[in-house]
Amino acid sequence: MGLFGREEATEYEIIPGQNLRCEICHHGRFYSREGKIQTTGMTFLDLDWANASATCLVCEKCGYVHWFLPT
Ligand SMILES: [Zn+2]
Repeated sequence: MGLFGREEATEYEIIPGQNLRCEICHHGRFYSREGKIQTTGMTFLDLDWANASATCLVCEKCGYVHWFLPT
């Protein structure tokens, strides 16, 4: 049983021709989640993309969350 129950982890190709590998354990399958960037406490960073939604890919094996902002 994984972190998100019955959901199937899949491979993601962020860069064409190159499957995403976990930063920590180099596993290659992830769960996808939509993440909301919160402005609270981050305004001092002057982030223009604050309030944008990001794609979160959670490693199936170790649970490390990889965040991808819209480009
Ligand atoms: Zn991992």
